[in-house]
Amino acid sequence: MRRLPAAVAAIAAVLCMAALVPIASAKPLPPGKVVAVEYAPPTAEEAAAHDLLRRTRVLERAGRTVGRELALGRPLKVRVVGANAPADDDPAPGPYYDPANRTIHLSYGFVDDVQAALTRLVRRERIRIRPAVLTTAATEFILYHEIGHALVHRLDVPVTGREEDAVDQLAALMSVSRGKGGEFVPLAAAMLFAAWDDGKAPGAAEYADEHSLKQQRVYSFVCLVYGSNPRRFADLVGEDGLPVQRAERCPAEWYQSYRSWTRLLRPYARVKAPIPPPIDRLGQGALPRR
Ligand SMILES: [Zn+2]
Repeated sequence: MRRLPAAVAAIAAVLCMAALVPIASAKPLPPGKVVAVEYAPPTAEEAAAHDLLRRTRVLERAGRTVGRELALGRPLKVRVVGANAPADDDPAPGPYYDPANRTIHLSYGFVDDVQAALTRLVRRERIRIRPAVLTTAATEFILYHEIGHALVHRLDVPVTGREEDAVDQLAALMSVSRGKGGEFVPLAAAMLFAAWDDGKAPGAAEYADEHSLKQQRVYSFVCLVYGSNPRRFADLVGEDGLPVQRAERCPAEWYQSYRSWTRLLRPYARVKAPIPPPIDRLGQGALPRR
């Protein structure tokens, strides 16, 4: 059975109202800043995906969020590719960071796949959010994830454990740090991975994959959002949502990710805020509870 924690859609429906306002009104990013986005001319089939990206400015917006936090010597390049300008001969690759040319690739075809999966999910679960809105937010999350890979490579950030999990955590932190309903972004990503899960039992390929299983990623994204503010997101926990046993540890999981990435990226931070203390020195009641 394919499962989307039902509580996710309800909370996401509330957050998305706030989350989309800044995306729609984000000004174009001046060239030469932290993230530089380049669009290949789309074919007729790619026009809808191109239009969605340009209209919402979602990639530029994600670049602005990262640029507000970090100062980098040279900008991160994002190339949106398609049939007119394929990446490595593939017109519609999944998103990836290429260390050889220090470029993140994202294809129009992939954006279409995301929208198709979310459209099916919205119909099946009767979710009251437009698929285009979910697609925009899930794409924002995926770009933060790829920016995470780029930062690990370019800044030689130490990673222990799986890099895929580490950059998922960074993507959730970036989403929440952008404010204005940014928690909608990881929740939309959770919906995408729920939509992509075909419900079959995982086989050798899935267990051996460098990514966590799709359902694990769904719960991890929901856990981080809940952990970022347990009082506000209390409704994410329960029978239809995050199991209580996991939820109890989510504020600590969130804090550990936040503290670790703050320390690792501090040399590049625009504002050198004090390093948050270790969790056991926070004192009783410092982490918020429900
Ligand atoms: Zn990755």
